[in-house]
Amino acid sequence: MATIKKIMLDKQSLPPRKRVAAYARISMETEQMLHSLSAQVSYYSKKIQSNPQWEYAGVYFDEGITGTSIAGRGEFKRLLADCDAGKIDIVLVKSISRFARDTVDCLNTVRHLKDIGVEVRFEREGIATFSADGELLLTLLASFAQAESESISTNIKWALRKKFEKGIPNGHKQTFGYNWDGVKYRIIPEQGEIVKEIFKRYIEGESGYAIAKDLKMRGVIGNNGVPLDASTIKDIVTNPSYTGTMILQKHYHNENHVRKLNRGELPRYAVEDVFEPLVSFKDYERAVIIRQKRAEAAPNRNPQHTKFAGKIKCGNCGAGVSRRGVSRNHPEFTKKWVCNTRERKGTSVCDMHILREMELETATESVVGKVTDDEFCRLVEKIVVYGDRIEFYLNDGRVKNVGRKYGGTLMNNGFKGRLFCGKCGTPLRRFSWKPCVKAIRWGCPAPKSQCTLKVLTDDELRRATASILEVTDGEPAFVERVRKMQVFDDKLRYELKDGTVKIWQRE
Ligand SMILES: [Zn+2]
Ligand SMILES: [Zn+2]
Repeated sequence: MATIKKIMLDKQSLPPRKRVAAYARISMETEQMLHSLSAQVSYYSKKIQSNPQWEYAGVYFDEGITGTSIAGRGEFKRLLADCDAGKIDIVLVKSISRFARDTVDCLNTVRHLKDIGVEVRFEREGIATFSADGELLLTLLASFAQAESESISTNIKWALRKKFEKGIPNGHKQTFGYNWDGVKYRIIPEQGEIVKEIFKRYIEGESGYAIAKDLKMRGVIGNNGVPLDASTIKDIVTNPSYTGTMILQKHYHNENHVRKLNRGELPRYAVEDVFEPLVSFKDYERAVIIRQKRAEAAPNRNPQHTKFAGKIKCGNCGAGVSRRGVSRNHPEFTKKWVCNTRERKGTSVCDMHILREMELETATESVVGKVTDDEFCRLVEKIVVYGDRIEFYLNDGRVKNVGRKYGGTLMNNGFKGRLFCGKCGTPLRRFSWKPCVKAIRWGCPAPKSQCTLKVLTDDELRRATASILEVTDGEPAFVERVRKMQVFDDKLRYELKDGTVKIWQRE
């Protein structure tokens, strides 16, 4: 007779769902109350419930009277109280005018919510308060709404000035070549000359790398005190600020807080006359076109394998993941995908475990089947790589998880690099004298005269990890949740990424 067992899902391996509420204000004058109300409530509950990463936290609504401030605010107050009580993570609102009575009210409320970790998203304006430009845009738009009699440009300048007075403009780092003097970005003469030179040489055909090398030889230093590198040169020649026009909301953050280039999903705003211009718009355009052409022609963009390019993100840090290590001798072993942050800043900043292309292909096939590259692009929106799973975001709105595979091979081991000797601190090494899983041991590679750590069997390591992390296969969960582990003679000390420490008594 068949037996049925209930499978307990490991809740910790799923990302916590955001609790999402909506706030609506119904105008009695201009809208047919009942219809409008039920339409808005069902619109929002549908919108929230159709997102697998969201949890429905309710729709709050007030009846308001257009154009005056004597609106009923009972539900609004209840919404804020529930936010304060920690019941809500995200609030959806149709537009800024529906949310607040006036600028001060709006900004105070939004800032308070931001302080307690609640994000507000305004649909019509396309603003999320947790995005880099969110608060600035909000200030701009709220000030338009309040002082319609004043000219728009005065408002922009006022709002920008307020923001810049606090130091860093636009939430980003200082722009090379400029100094903020309280009114405007003024050119720093020596740096300005360098910017002009960089544009000129880039347009004339020199590579970012060659320009950076030459500037370094001449002792030119960037804002952070180090020489300008090739990627900074590329950033400079594609930064429209040097033409005098500042573009806001070039990037935005999506539901998963992944920073994405704004390709028209949200409005972009051009603000003129903030920077003193250094280059003409024509030269800027030329540089951008050259940059695009070079990026397309870059050697690691093998046209046969571009179906994944640009679609893969690191689940750890949100950065892009690039294809690396293509070798003609062993292509099936060497093709791999690496987090850009990890590559540039090291494993202390992001420790995403490298993803073999073989594993990626297999996982992809299990989700969409054997399909052509065109079909793949049509079906899959993006792929997010975690230590224990790969998440496929499909264009039809579904999200599918495939567990990551480790073990078996020396090249793809989830424990490697994260086990340390508790006595002397050396990273442990894996060794085996037989091609048999049972024979694998982990030991301290320091000479016996200096360190005498008792070797650990791979078998015990796996059993301990599964038990400590409360899963059946400990290896993927180890990669996702453990920062490092120290091995002592009598115990294993697990240091988790969430800050907790767990101990296993050795057998
Ligand atoms: Zn990363
Ligand atoms: Zn040791």
